[in-house]
Amino acid sequence: MNTFPDQLRRWQRELRSQFPLIVANPEVAYLDSAATSQKPQAVLDAVVSYLTTGNADAARGTYPWANRTTARVELARDRLRRFVDDPRPQASGVHFVGGTTDGLRAVARDWLAPQLRDGDEIIVPFADHAANGGAWLEAAELLRRQGAHVRVTPMPYDEAHDYDTARLAELVSNRTRLIAATHVHHVYGTEMVVHRLRAVAGSDIPICLDAAQGVGHLPLSMTELDVDFVVFSGHKAMALPGIGAIWARNARGPAYVPAGWTGSPNTTGVISLAAAFDWLDGAGLGRVAHWTTALGARLTEGLRTLPSYELLGRRQSLGIVAFRHRAIDSHDLGFILASEGLLVRADGHCQGDQGEKTASVRVSPHVYNTPEEVDRLLAVLAGLDRSW
Ligand code: PLP
Repeated sequence: MNTFPDQLRRWQRELRSQFPLIVANPEVAYLDSAATSQKPQAVLDAVVSYLTTGNADAARGTYPWANRTTARVELARDRLRRFVDDPRPQASGVHFVGGTTDGLRAVARDWLAPQLRDGDEIIVPFADHAANGGAWLEAAELLRRQGAHVRVTPMPYDEAHDYDTARLAELVSNRTRLIAATHVHHVYGTEMVVHRLRAVAGSDIPICLDAAQGVGHLPLSMTELDVDFVVFSGHKAMALPGIGAIWARNARGPAYVPAGWTGSPNTTGVISLAAAFDWLDGAGLGRVAHWTTALGARLTEGLRTLPSYELLGRRQSLGIVAFRHRAIDSHDLGFILASEGLLVRADGHCQGDQGEKTASVRVSPHVYNTPEEVDRLLAVLAGLDRSW
């Protein structure tokens, strides 16, 4: 079967041509999109156009530029609700934050901590990104300082690094106040079984989703996922750095409201985010997911033929592939690949305490990457196979 038929190739070529940094550097294969994505011209244009035609602060002034900016920030909230296929947009809140880490900490500090009582419990995925562990530990620590003990229970995993919902069902109790989960794993690339968590959690326990690797990579449906919070970073989803959002369902517990004064919004960030959603919806997220999955599968198949490499993931990946060379240190391998113009990440990937114990190389393609780039990477890796 041809995984990359001509029609799909044409679609991808057209999209790739819209990324100025990619086009300007044909000798470089940027394969680190799980860290941050490249930006399409449409997003850059939206930002430049705003800054050169009507830059002003939002929710403050009364003159036209300010009013227009305020309106654009409000429209961006609605845009986000549509992007995540929010079934009840009138009943959800959208709050702009700096990114995923910032957003998770805000939910933990401003929403969860004030509700926690002595003897309560939260379930935390310590083999996911450290941002989705640290935030909840901070909430428990806040309570400890007030003399209350909150049990922090590690989320159970199965042998494929996915959530073990059978064991989770045994852990959940009437003192469980939150389950923290991740949409797509940032090391293994797996779409986690988030859609099965609601059945385990029952109707009362809030679920907070770290969607840093989901938003911008596959279609999202809040009806299907049935979680209470979705938190993500714009810079991983084609928008600028420094912007992210919390989508909050406002159904279980009080509505999320940031504590204290949040200051002027990041207007250019918000505008870039709305433009990125337009671009991604225009590209078609179903196809984007198909493309990156096919690139990941090509890499995985190639690596399986090279005995010197150990693959980390055990289930189909949405594109992210992590591996180690059995003899070459992963950091060194990262430098070797960079010297060949192959830009990958090589370290521990900020995984939590229950994650991998040694560094690995992570390849994370996006829609601008090609099968030829994967083949280039495989050729260099093959050259290092059994050579040590
Ligand atoms: N969660 C996941 C799954 C991630 O992959 C990342 C970043 O790599 C983060 C959280 C943190 O995102 P940020 O650094 O944008 O706050």
